[in-house]
Amino acid sequence: MSNDSNIPITDTRPSAARYLKLSGLEPLVITPESNFVNVGERTNVAGSKRFLRLIKERKFEEALDVARDQVEGGAQIIDINMDDGLIDGKEAMVKFLNLVIAEPDIAKVPIMIDSSKWDIIEAGLQVVQGKCVVNSISLKEGEEEFINHAKLIKRYGAAVIVMAFDEVGQADNYDRRVEISKRSYDILVNQVGFPPEDIIFDLNIFPVATGMDEHKLNALDFIKATKWVRENLPYASVSGGVSNVSFSFRGNNPVREAMHSVFLYHAIKAGMNMGIVNPTMLEIYDDIPKDLLEHVEDVILNRREDATERLLDFAESVVGKAKESKIDLSWREEPLQDRITRALVKGIDQYIVEDVEEARMAADKPIEVIEGHLMIGMNVVGDLFGSGKMFLPQVVKSARVMKKAVAYLLPYIEEEKLKNPQVGDDKGNGKILMATVKGDVHDIGKNIVSVVLACNNYEIVDLGVMVPPEKIIAEAIAHNVDVIGLSGLITPSLDEMVHLAKEMERKNFKVPLLIGGATTSKAHTAVKIDPQYSEAVVHVNDASRAVTVVGDLLQKDTSEKYKKTIKEDYDVFREKFLSRTKKKEYKSLAAARENRFKIDWEASSIVKPRQLGIQVIEDVDLEKLVPFIDWTPFFRSWELHGKYPDILTDEIVGEQATELFADAQKMLQSILKDKKLTGKGIFGLFPANTLENHDDIEVEVNDGQEDKTYVFRTLRQQLKRREGVPDYALADFVAPKESGKQDYVGCFCVTTGFGTDELADAYRKNLDDYNSILVKALSDRLAEAFAEYLHLEVRREHWGYAADEHLKNDELIDEKYKGIRPAPGYPACPDHLEKLTLWDMLKVEERIGVKLTDSLAMWPASSVSGYYFGNSEARYFGLGKIKEDQVADFAERKGISLEEATKWLAPNIADD
Ligand code: SAH
Repeated sequence: MSNDSNIPITDTRPSAARYLKLSGLEPLVITPESNFVNVGERTNVAGSKRFLRLIKERKFEEALDVARDQVEGGAQIIDINMDDGLIDGKEAMVKFLNLVIAEPDIAKVPIMIDSSKWDIIEAGLQVVQGKCVVNSISLKEGEEEFINHAKLIKRYGAAVIVMAFDEVGQADNYDRRVEISKRSYDILVNQVGFPPEDIIFDLNIFPVATGMDEHKLNALDFIKATKWVRENLPYASVSGGVSNVSFSFRGNNPVREAMHSVFLYHAIKAGMNMGIVNPTMLEIYDDIPKDLLEHVEDVILNRREDATERLLDFAESVVGKAKESKIDLSWREEPLQDRITRALVKGIDQYIVEDVEEARMAADKPIEVIEGHLMIGMNVVGDLFGSGKMFLPQVVKSARVMKKAVAYLLPYIEEEKLKNPQVGDDKGNGKILMATVKGDVHDIGKNIVSVVLACNNYEIVDLGVMVPPEKIIAEAIAHNVDVIGLSGLITPSLDEMVHLAKEMERKNFKVPLLIGGATTSKAHTAVKIDPQYSEAVVHVNDASRAVTVVGDLLQKDTSEKYKKTIKEDYDVFREKFLSRTKKKEYKSLAAARENRFKIDWEASSIVKPRQLGIQVIEDVDLEKLVPFIDWTPFFRSWELHGKYPDILTDEIVGEQATELFADAQKMLQSILKDKKLTGKGIFGLFPANTLENHDDIEVEVNDGQEDKTYVFRTLRQQLKRREGVPDYALADFVAPKESGKQDYVGCFCVTTGFGTDELADAYRKNLDDYNSILVKALSDRLAEAFAEYLHLEVRREHWGYAADEHLKNDELIDEKYKGIRPAPGYPACPDHLEKLTLWDMLKVEERIGVKLTDSLAMWPASSVSGYYFGNSEARYFGLGKIKEDQVADFAERKGISLEEATKWLAPNIADD
């Protein structure tokens, strides 16, 4: 034998001598004419659930049946692996092999002894008869160990699988495969004297069509490297585990089978002569339908840029066909990790407890299932989301599966902790405090970000809504959090955030601050918040970026550098921003008033409302509101961008949008059927005129018996613009007293938010964030629809100035109607203070129960309020920034201090 291996490889003996010759009781000689050699892997504890269970339960006789079935099913070699935490691998290997060699119908084929532990391999080598294969050795631990093991294998007379793995890592491209196989080969042949024909390279088969660009060449590089090995490393064989290539199509067997066949077809042509293939997962190449074949081949051979997307689309139709007949549960047969990953990626929670239990049984400690199986699955989710191949609603569904799995494991983890109290708390990747700031009630965005961060193994301390700064600070200290995330939707929240940053600075906090929510912006963060806090402050407005940013902030080695970069970025941004805004010029309030928008009141027709006064809608029929829903913002709240209904067929997000929309319809139906939410509304139509200052609207309210006068203070544009363009205030749309014409305005508040929090919380308690968020998003939609519906009723009936208006919903959404309904807090009237007047005027809280918070946000969150202006010339505009003179004037008109006025108007006051 040793002589043989010293023969130089240019040896000219008959080449028959150079074939890979293996044997059990019978020989297996692999010649160039041989067919592909199929290695069975059902006798691998990692490859078969059944085999694992049998070995664990020490049912070796039955385990032998698995081996026998394999051989009968056509396996020409059987791979035997006993690597499992709960099994004494060496003992099991020796025992099983001893049984195998006593069974001629099994022992006729060569054995592949598979283990990552050398002592198991060696124990196996001492048992088997014939010429077996060792699976595997590699340069992973360096040359010395590689050489030692190779020498021993040679002495035992076995062939060997060499993994394309070295000290640096696994070969994952063409060059690395070539580099590592060449180096391994040279060492084996020249230093160890290993017979080259006994070397089998496993060149790593990795998945394609994962959605990641760097995976596009995975199959092609393997195939090319195979060709290179077979042409340049004489006599060596090439093998691999084929099912990996189709990993991203778990659950779709028709596609997987086609992928395996296509891959093998090309890999075998390139010289792959051995491999682990599940024969039941193989379609005959010529039987693959032509269209499927083309799509699969595009992916395997990376023939087009959009190959993955096209196959994904096509795969849906293939799986759809399968689904029509019966739900495809073939994925339940797959290895445990595959099943768990699939459940997470697809958001299927039906089997997760069962699978997690199986993982727990096999693990040393229950926490390992979270750190292992579940995190592996969530990393796939994270990669798909990060690369834009998976969308937010699906991620939130994945989180639901994850939560269910973790909830199942928690009692076991607690139990383990009692047994082993010195084991500290697992902090995962870090702890993040999330809160909607004081005075603000909106939390859809915050909840979404929390869910997504939790999926990425961050522990979330969620303080909910309306959280006072003292509480945020106290809890941050108590929980020793690594990051604080603040959220807010209305403008006063901006100030709260600035305040909190100052407090954190004063308290010498070192925790990075994340800023998010609808009114926040990079500009506000850079200009107002960042200078208040010496640590990192980052504006993050979408969930996937939140993951990246938090990851960077907490990355041990590089976080300092990242924080520094962020600070610098915000410094530069702030400077640019400030120098830009400084250039703007403003008019005095007096000049702006002079240049107001002037309606010709003599010519303008004013319609007197048919019903003056206040009306309450006690319990609106939600069913009536559904046709008025504007769905586009619904998708936006889930970070799916595009206009409804086109979004449902959008090339990129269409499928996800359709699925989300279907879920929303289901939820909506159940809300309507069981009257889970209550909608109430109130509105009033009143005589009104503007006052002499041109900016105040005086409103006569006759509420029952006595008349009472209220005044809405409007704000006027001051930014210097083109000549001839008026400086608007909402008051311009109402006739001045001096015109002698009696004019009218209206105002309203509607809500569909009674019951929302309870319903959402119930879902959340049931670990179902997906439906919890869905309820809130739908409730918001219904409130906006209510505003739209009521406005229409007002125009057609109650006020009646547009009695014969017939607009379709998309025309309503486009505001094609006559008149406007501006809402306090929005661009034309950014000041929230007027809501106090509106509340007082209509007695909103007393009559329908909608409250105003400290920051004048409406509670319940799904509420809308605003004014009605009926004039045909009324239009929406943006106030823009105003100057100190208007702030002072406003304070005086309202009878509040300058300080108070400044506080409320802050986001709209121009910086000097
Ligand atoms: N269809 C949308 C409606 C909300 S946004 C939805 O379902 O979400 C449009 C509303 O915002 C208007 O009806 C009005 O109440 C308010 N709005 C829009 N532009 C405004 C402006 N410039 N000033 C004040 N309010 C405005």
